[in-house]
Amino acid sequence: MSVRLETDHHKVLIFDEMTSPDIAAAVAVNAPVIVTLGAMEQHGAHLPLSTDTYQGLDTCRRASALLAKEGIPLIVGPAIPFGPPPFLSESPKALPGTINISNDTLRALLHDVCASLISSGFRRIYLLMSNVESEYAMHIVAKELTETTEANIVTLNWLIGIRPKYKGMLVSDKPQGHGGEGETARMLATAPHLVRMEEARPYHPNLPLEPVVPGDFLPYLGGAIGRYRFDRDEFRGMVDGITGDPQLATAETGEKSYAVIVEWIASAIRFDMRP
Ligand SMILES: [Zn+2]
Repeated sequence: MSVRLETDHHKVLIFDEMTSPDIAAAVAVNAPVIVTLGAMEQHGAHLPLSTDTYQGLDTCRRASALLAKEGIPLIVGPAIPFGPPPFLSESPKALPGTINISNDTLRALLHDVCASLISSGFRRIYLLMSNVESEYAMHIVAKELTETTEANIVTLNWLIGIRPKYKGMLVSDKPQGHGGEGETARMLATAPHLVRMEEARPYHPNLPLEPVVPGDFLPYLGGAIGRYRFDRDEFRGMVDGITGDPQLATAETGEKSYAVIVEWIASAIRFDMRP
């Protein structure tokens, strides 16, 4: 089995498709594993419910393919397909089709998944945020297990990581959120057969353009938690539960976006895996 890991550098290693001896061979060479935190939630009329999980897994596959060329055998771990409820009960994410688990359930689930991976011999586990509501549980689990086991659990929030490079990549010059141009573009690159562009409609929430006090923007976008609040009027006049300009999305933009995200993830993993 180790032969496969050492010689077939361009094969992406998918945890779910590997055998127990494959995993034993992988941990013997200190392979890292990456776990995507996705969601099952409404993404408007044009994107499937599992949009976050699709993007997360494709991001991991692309990072694995890139790092394989450099001899780093990043294993695409099992995805967590559910996330916690949105911040506000009246959030558009609560529309039909959304399946949520509580923050406590996610924390316990993620803890147990990571603890099993550590029992299997993994010593470096990456948690990739692919659904912003999952970020809080992700940090707690990473902190707990890194402090109490031999493993390092590393969290990755590419929204913050690629921020300087993301500007100018999209066609729209307005903020793009849930189901907007960025997500739609990546889904056009990942699973075009699941995107219904004829259903894509724009919507822009009622948000102040500038922070009203310093650091007053959401933690998952790199804001401080000095003032943590949600504006209950944010989604007034919502059309179908998305924010942004999805009709401007193209697969080409999706590919560009993935390239920047994947390079950022690879740079973080490269640094950790340096000899
Ligand atoms: Zn999404």
